[in-house]
Amino acid sequence: MAKILKTQEDYDRVFKRLERDFGKLNDQQEQFALKEFGRLISELSEFLAEFADDHGIIQRRRSGRVLRDLDTLEQNIRRDGEITLRNIIEETSSWTTSRLDREIGLGLSGRQFDRINKHVVTYIVKRFGEDGLVLSDRLWGLSGEIRDELASVIRSGIIKGDGINSMIPKIRRVYEAETWKIKRLARTESLTAHRGAIAYSAQESSVTSWVEFHAGVKRSDACVSLEEEDRHGQGAGIFKPTDTDIWTPHPNCTGYMSYVLDERWL
Ligand SMILES: [Zn+2]
Repeated sequence: MAKILKTQEDYDRVFKRLERDFGKLNDQQEQFALKEFGRLISELSEFLAEFADDHGIIQRRRSGRVLRDLDTLEQNIRRDGEITLRNIIEETSSWTTSRLDREIGLGLSGRQFDRINKHVVTYIVKRFGEDGLVLSDRLWGLSGEIRDELASVIRSGIIKGDGINSMIPKIRRVYEAETWKIKRLARTESLTAHRGAIAYSAQESSVTSWVEFHAGVKRSDACVSLEEEDRHGQGAGIFKPTDTDIWTPHPNCTGYMSYVLDERWL
C-alpha cells in the first residue's frame, strides 16, 4: 500500500526522486542508441574489408559498388534509428507513468495507461521541432549527412589507393564526430516523453490541474523564462498540463515538472 501523500513537500520529494532515477535511465538510453549506431559502422568496416584485395586495397573499378552499398547503410541508419528512438520514447513514457501511478497514487486503469503512452508517443513522433522537422525527417537528414561524409572518406581513399587500414580510422572519426547528434536526439526525445507523460498523466487522472516547471541543470534562458512566467495567474512557473510548449523548451533540455497539490483533495 502506497504511503498517502499529504503535503506539497511529499509531492516534491516524489518528483525529486523521480528525476534522479530518470537521469540514470536516460543515460542508459543514450548509451543504447550509440551502441546501435556503432554497430552499423562496424558492419561497414567489415563490408569494406570484403571488397579489399590481399593488400587491403579496394580497386577503383569496385568503387561504384562500394558507394552504392552506402545507400543501404543510410537506409539502415534511418530504419534502425526510428525503431531505437521509438523504443526509447515508449520506455520512458511507460516508466514515468507507472512510477507516478505507484508513488502519487494516480489510480490509472489499464486503458488509461495505454492511452497516455499512445498519446505521448504520437505527440513526439508528429511534433515539429525548432528546425521545422518531425522526428523521421530529422533522422532522414542525419542519416544522409553521415552517408555523405562516409562516401567522401571512402571515395578519396579509393582514389588515393589507401588501404582499408588507413580508411577505417577515418570512418571511426566520422562516427565520433556524429555521436553528439545521436546523443542529442536520444536525450531530447526521451526527455520530452518524460515531461509529456508527467503532464498527460495529470490530465488523464485529474489528480491535479496544475504542474510546476523547474528549469534544468544548465538554467538555459528558455527554461528560466518559463520558470519565471506566470501564464495563468497561478504563480511563477505554474502551467496547465495541456501547455505542450513546456514539454520541449529547447533541445537537450533537462527542465522538469512536478504536480501542484490540489487543495480540493485534502
Ligand atoms: Zn532547459
